[in-house]
Amino acid sequence: MTAIHTMTLAQLSEELAKKTLSSVELTQYFLDRIEKLDKKYNSFITVTAEHALEKAKQCDAVRAQNQAGPLTGLPIAHKDIFCTKGIKTSCGSKMLDNFISPYDATMVSQVDAAGMVMLGKTNMDEFAMGSSNETSFYGPVHNPWDLNTVPGGSSGGSAAAVAARLTPASSGTDTGGSIRQPAALCGVTGLKPTYGRISRYGMIAFASSLDQGGPFAQTAEDVAMLLQAMSGFDPKDSTSVDVPVPDYVALLNQSLSGKIIGIPKEYFKQGLDREVEKRVQDAIATFEKLGARIQEVSLPTSPLSISVYYVVASAECSSNLSRFDGVRYGHRCDNPKDLEDLYKRSRSEGFGDEVKRRIMVGTYALSSGYYDAYYLKAQKVRKLISDDFKRVFEQVDFLIGPTTPTPAFKIGEKANDPVSMYLSDIYTIATNLAGLPGLSIPAGFVNDLPVGVQLTGKHFDEGLLLNAAHCYQQQTDWHKRIPKSCA
Ligand code: GLN
Repeated sequence: MTAIHTMTLAQLSEELAKKTLSSVELTQYFLDRIEKLDKKYNSFITVTAEHALEKAKQCDAVRAQNQAGPLTGLPIAHKDIFCTKGIKTSCGSKMLDNFISPYDATMVSQVDAAGMVMLGKTNMDEFAMGSSNETSFYGPVHNPWDLNTVPGGSSGGSAAAVAARLTPASSGTDTGGSIRQPAALCGVTGLKPTYGRISRYGMIAFASSLDQGGPFAQTAEDVAMLLQAMSGFDPKDSTSVDVPVPDYVALLNQSLSGKIIGIPKEYFKQGLDREVEKRVQDAIATFEKLGARIQEVSLPTSPLSISVYYVVASAECSSNLSRFDGVRYGHRCDNPKDLEDLYKRSRSEGFGDEVKRRIMVGTYALSSGYYDAYYLKAQKVRKLISDDFKRVFEQVDFLIGPTTPTPAFKIGEKANDPVSMYLSDIYTIATNLAGLPGLSIPAGFVNDLPVGVQLTGKHFDEGLLLNAAHCYQQQTDWHKRIPKSCA
């Protein structure tokens, strides 16, 4: 049998079905890897070993009764932004360092009901604000491909854990790129589904109109299996959409012949690393060999997406984060003098610099006198960005471009330059503003660091993106490469 950690979810599922392996053995195997290797990466905030082994035992019993589904007994790690009952849910912040959630997020309970075993909670940028995982209260995550570089953010722990094969699957959230960008920088497959596809209930809110949870794994096939379990209408989330969940796995092998792929010309301008561009061109050529036709398209408003995002996301976060006041849950300062002192000191002590920066920008943008100039204007431009996609999707089936402008950068390199950090999401953010699905897949290396290619689709067209990515992954082996640091 090949080494367990190199296997995909689909392969592990077969091993469990054949009973060459039990879920308890599988779970213990990954817990041992986390124990041995995660000191290097810092990809987990909490490891839930006892809880995992208990669940694995139950899964083996379910299998013994022939009641196992495809995901029964397979491990997963959840980003520490998802509430998990009885388990610390920190959101990467000192503010919630003492928070034990009283309930499970809907996505967590769906994955649990599908039989998956949670190994633990992964490290992340504080309140999902960041592109490098350096804003976490629990310290930076190190990219398994080069420990001196960032894994991307904010779901950096989830991406690094899959890259280092500490878990075959993980969950993340993506408000402006936080699944796709770290997937690209860590060389794994990551999907941001259509807004409303996966419930946001129990996912700690950053910017509610943009936040969307989604899966990470080695392959598109595994991501399809995970999406199947994570998706669906949830009456507890008012923005959850009641659209039937297709059989994503059944769609994987359809021919791409005759599909039209749009290449947004704005994505290949100044700012894109030349070597990254070459990898994207190679991927495009592979899709052509698979029978797709390529057509250049234009998204003229896409250069405005970063500016729009930092007004909208900051405005929404300033409102969402007002709930952390030291009264109800989370950090509370010692010996407050009065209520105002309680609010002020609890928030000053509990939040880190990036979170404070966003709250201040957002509060300013929403203040009377500036609301029209910033927030309202940003919403109008957001509509134009959506309209651009709508127009383009009348001509093409999906889009391809780079996920990030460069491979992973060094830890510390952009920490004091927020604008340059913000620019690392230049190709991912518009997708969130328009609520569209986006998938990043490994597409090669530059100086031994992984490069990702992004596929963007129509609303609820995840099935086609995964189908295309699966066909691509049958022709390439980038997704099979494993960093030396975890061998
Ligand atoms: N990097 C972006 C930000 O800092 C996106 C984060 C995210 O998608 N959660 O806001």
